[in-house]
Amino acid sequence: MRMKVQSWGTRLLSQGGKEVFIKTVLQAIPTYSMSCFLLPKMFCMKLESVMSRFWWQKSSTRKGMHWCNWASLSIPKNCGGIGFRDLGKFNVALLAKQGWKLVTNPDSLFGRIYKAKYYPHTSFWNATLGNNSLYSSKDKMVWSVDNSGIYTVRSGYRCLVELYINDITNTNYTGIYKEIWGLNLPPKIRIAIWRFTYEYIPTAVNLYNRRISSSPICPSCGEVPENFMHTLLMCGLAKTVWQSIGVDWSNFNENMDFYTWLNLVFQNRRHDFGKIAATTAWALWQARNKRTMEGKRQSVQDIYSIIFSIIKEMRELKDKIPTPVNAMNSIWKPPQEPFVKVNFDAGFKITLHHSYYGFVIRNSKGLVMRSETIFNKFVSNSFTVEAIACQALDFAREMGFSHAQMQGDSRTAIVKINQVLPDFSDMGTYIEEINIKASSFQHISFHHVDRRANMVAHMLAKVRMSIPKDRFWVEDLPAAAEVHLARDLSGLVSQI
Ligand SMILES: [Zn+2]
Repeated sequence: MRMKVQSWGTRLLSQGGKEVFIKTVLQAIPTYSMSCFLLPKMFCMKLESVMSRFWWQKSSTRKGMHWCNWASLSIPKNCGGIGFRDLGKFNVALLAKQGWKLVTNPDSLFGRIYKAKYYPHTSFWNATLGNNSLYSSKDKMVWSVDNSGIYTVRSGYRCLVELYINDITNTNYTGIYKEIWGLNLPPKIRIAIWRFTYEYIPTAVNLYNRRISSSPICPSCGEVPENFMHTLLMCGLAKTVWQSIGVDWSNFNENMDFYTWLNLVFQNRRHDFGKIAATTAWALWQARNKRTMEGKRQSVQDIYSIIFSIIKEMRELKDKIPTPVNAMNSIWKPPQEPFVKVNFDAGFKITLHHSYYGFVIRNSKGLVMRSETIFNKFVSNSFTVEAIACQALDFAREMGFSHAQMQGDSRTAIVKINQVLPDFSDMGTYIEEINIKASSFQHISFHHVDRRANMVAHMLAKVRMSIPKDRFWVEDLPAAAEVHLARDLSGLVSQI
């Protein structure tokens, strides 16, 4: 294993790359022997320490600080670890598979040889440590942990790990790790965020507490002790960077830890806010290291562009992944209670700078609550038209709905609305307005749909061209849109 590590150690691997390498290559090495023998504890620990060193080291020649032990890293990801394998437990889970074979199939050749060799005068049960996850029913052995009732190494290992977690933690995890690992961000950022939650990072205060350095004072401002929250939010540059993306933490309690702060961030329902805040935290920590270790200074603009390009790249990647069943996207689906769905669409007469827009609000049964068709003058371009149409959310709020899903068929408009970074185009002011209005909802989201799923709204916009005044309908639609409503509803029926 050490040789494998050395052959890879020279290549530049991020912690994300190392995670994959450990899980797919290193952990697989001892599997064969572990399925036949109970390896000595010392030996498992040795293997784990090789992997641990590899995980924490900075390069093949530079050691890294081990901020926590292998046992903590081997906790499943959603419970706060990295999900590496605890070799001792995995060994037991593998051996139990042999045991399972013996118990369920004692008359096999393997079973008879094993019995003759290891427990000729007793049964398998008395020969091993008892296990209360197994019981027999009608002469059949049942493994209660897995629904199938059949033992698998995976479920056996999970069972052992769960026992361990219940032992060491008070399970106060509020799902935050699930959120972190679920972020659509590069692995290096997610791992950094994971480290931040435990403060596994060399801040001046951490180094001072470990007696590695002689001063806890912030190397950037030289004013106060540098704990992570200071670097992240309070220190001069950090403050400006947050301001540049439109976030102000000045009312924030300075003594809060990162874990609590992140919980706050994830509670923010603005689309992508978690992603942007996480990326910013990561970028600020990187900038701090560049400054204190390499003496390289990054400007607010530099950091801002790094954040911006990562978010943009991840969005583009996501957009490139084709929707698995494209046809589904073309079928209108009702919202789930307590949500209402607002479909909106707009038409634009480019020469006159006239726009027409329409929207329809429907409930979870697909029934129309309200529909409307509206005319606007002096509109600069077709994107702006969509942004204006999106203000249909006003009417939803007016009617007392606090949960809404907004759907339009213009991708540009939806992408811009979902973007948290400021927009300096013509549309910017409208977007800002939409965001402010959106904040009066308890829950609101904006989605792009196929035109075919947005036909009712499309017809509503069109209707305005042939009538003299703006008009709305309560629990009703203009006749021209009815056929499309019927189609949406029939899609509903065929799905059931
Ligand atoms: Zn400072």
